[in-house]
Amino acid sequence: MSEEGLEQKFIQEAFDTNWVVPLGPNVDGFEKDLEKFVGQDKRVVALSSGTSAVHLGLVNCGVGPGDEVITQSFTFCASAHPITYLGATPVFVDSEPDTWNIDPELMEEAIKDRIAKTGKTPKAIVPVALYGMPYKIDRIMKIADQYGIPVVEDAAEGFGSRYQGQVLGTFGKYGVLSFNGNKIITTSGGGALITSDDDEWRKVMMYATQYRESYPYYQHEKIGYNYRMSNICAGIGRGQMTVAEAHLAHHRHVQSLYEKLFADVPGIHVHSQPATGDFDSNYWLCAITIDEDVRIKDQENAYKTIVTSAVGGAAGVIHAASQAITDCQPNDNVEALREYLNKAGIEGRPLWKPMHKQPVYCGRSEKGKAMIDSLPSGAVCYTYDNSVAYVNGVSEAMFKIGMCLPAGPCVSDDDVQYIVETIKSAVI
Ligand SMILES: *Cc1c(COP(=O)(O)O)cnc(C)c1O
Repeated sequence: MSEEGLEQKFIQEAFDTNWVVPLGPNVDGFEKDLEKFVGQDKRVVALSSGTSAVHLGLVNCGVGPGDEVITQSFTFCASAHPITYLGATPVFVDSEPDTWNIDPELMEEAIKDRIAKTGKTPKAIVPVALYGMPYKIDRIMKIADQYGIPVVEDAAEGFGSRYQGQVLGTFGKYGVLSFNGNKIITTSGGGALITSDDDEWRKVMMYATQYRESYPYYQHEKIGYNYRMSNICAGIGRGQMTVAEAHLAHHRHVQSLYEKLFADVPGIHVHSQPATGDFDSNYWLCAITIDEDVRIKDQENAYKTIVTSAVGGAAGVIHAASQAITDCQPNDNVEALREYLNKAGIEGRPLWKPMHKQPVYCGRSEKGKAMIDSLPSGAVCYTYDNSVAYVNGVSEAMFKIGMCLPAGPCVSDDDVQYIVETIKSAVI
């Protein structure tokens, strides 16, 4: 049966058996599939989104008002916003150059500096598998354990990626997966939290279903959330699990094709995993960097017009930007290439803009600027009203020269060939 066929079968079953609710046989079945997939005797709770999984992971770590939580600055906002939802303060840590993920050394420096400055240890650490690339989880866990800090792995983009052979999301106390429409597998929208044991699983399950106690009536002893995945979405998930390995193989194949075809293109580099043998990225998206001296056709006109819709046609962006530029944006040649590709029917996207450069986190200081101090390593600590950042410059530098290229299940070998040829033709 085809992929769509299986998904429709599970969904039809949900209707036939009257399970059109946020629980049921598809939810149970999908969770069992996921538990088998991630291994390590983990328990999994299927949720309505990856964001809610980050949120519940932090809730279960006891994060609350006045706490601080360390996370990677170079990420999608969903790694950070749930920290703010809980009244806690995100402490953004910059990246290392090889993986683009949280720099373990800088992370330890940040922990020490937080303890020195606040007298308190950060309440959790959220590393992120950026574009599927594994973070150096052995180093991260060693430091986290040394300071007694629980780790919530944001493997939303790293479904099926492995470090030293072990699936991401299974190293920390909790692991986050996302099944949003653009991720490796999708349930239209959805996510999951990987938990360490039955006790943790039970707690997460309680929080995900409004924290209802076992009485014949509704008894609430804690504040819960309505975060359970629907049985319809889980039906899609069960269908998708039958093709997960094929999707993963496809992403890795597309990456290797990009690597091969870009090998002889000067000034353009494909972001690839370190060759130590520890890394096995799912290569969710192919990311390239473009040297600043590479000239792209029509580059002098980059950023001359105000964009009236979000890049990527993002849902929810309903107002035009107020100005064509910001104080932190991709270089002119990157923007010119994005426009060039767009005209050729190819969607190139900027990398995630680092959280410590987002106005919502860095633009709200009382005096309009941060308290700034330098650290022994040469990194800089910025203290804002609602966030703290430990910055070595790596994520901002990558954001300025980077771009993501299409890599999904519909991207064929011919497409990759066309994309690379188009990029070559854009270079002057
Ligand atoms: C997609 C994503 C999430 C959140 O997932 P949703 O299912 O969209 O809520 C969290 N973290 C990262 C890094 C992501 O890319």
